[in-house]
Amino acid sequence: MRYHRPNPTIYYLIGAVAAGAFALWGTVSVTRSAVSSWQARKAAETAKTAVVSSAIESEPEEETEPWMILLVNKDHKIPTGYTRKIDFVKLRGDVWVDERMYPSLQQMMDDCRAAGYHPIVISGFRTIAYQDELFQTEVRKYIRLGYPENGAILEAEKLQQHPGYSEHHLALAVDILPESNQYPTQDQENSDEIKWLMAHCQEYGFILRYPVDKESLTGINYEPWHYRYVGTKAAKYIMKHKLCLEEYVTMLEEETTQSASDSSTETTAAVEADG
Ligand SMILES: [Zn+2]
Repeated sequence: MRYHRPNPTIYYLIGAVAAGAFALWGTVSVTRSAVSSWQARKAAETAKTAVVSSAIESEPEEETEPWMILLVNKDHKIPTGYTRKIDFVKLRGDVWVDERMYPSLQQMMDDCRAAGYHPIVISGFRTIAYQDELFQTEVRKYIRLGYPENGAILEAEKLQQHPGYSEHHLALAVDILPESNQYPTQDQENSDEIKWLMAHCQEYGFILRYPVDKESLTGINYEPWHYRYVGTKAAKYIMKHKLCLEEYVTMLEEETTQSASDSSTETTAAVEADG
C-alpha cells in the first residue's frame, strides 16, 4: 500500500484558514466592537506569520563562509581593496548593499511588512570618506557641548567607528528603523518593527550586531537598529546564545585550534604506536 506523507505546510494553511474563520465568527457573533476586530486582525497576522515561519524553517541552513563572519570593528580595519570586489545592489533611497545578502534582506523586509509593520532601511554601505564625515560630525557635536577634543573623540567613538573600522564598509550591515520614526535611539527597541526584527532576524541570516551589555567586546553602545548578515547557521546560533559576533568568531577560532591540536595529538599517538 502506498503511504502518502502529508505536507506540513498544508496543516499550517488549514490552521491559518481555521484561525481566520474562527476570528471572523467571533467578530460577527459577539459584537462589532473595535476590540474583537483587533483580535481578528491579530489572529490573521499570527496565522500568516506561522505560514511564513514554517516555510523559512524548512529551508536548509546556509553554511558559514568566511566573508559572512568577517570582523570589522575598532581592532579590525576593513581589508585593503575589499570594497572594489563588492557587487552592489541599490535599494530605495540610495542605500546600497552586497548582492549576496540582498535576497535575504528583501525577504526579511517583505515578511516584516506582511506582519503589518513599516520598517525602512536607512543606511547600508558607507564609503570611508562618508564614515569620516559622520565621525567628525559626532566629534563636533561633543565639542559644542563643551568637551575637550580628546573627550569629544572618546564620546564619538561610542557611537561611530573611525573611518575604515565601520562594519558598514562591508555592505553586509544595515540600519533599520520604523518608517514613522527614523531616529536611531535605544528606545526604538520598544517599536513594533524592532521587536519583530529582534525576534525573527536570525531566520533570514541576520543578527543584532551590537546587543545590550556587549559594549566592552563590540566597542559600540547598544544599537537595536543595526543588523548584520552572517548567514542563517551562524545567525541562529548567535541569537539563540545571545552572543555578539566577536564572541562567535573567537569561539570558532578556539574550536579550530582545539581540533588542530587534537588531530596532531592523534597523529603523534599513531606515529608512536607505529614506532
Ligand atoms: Zn549601523
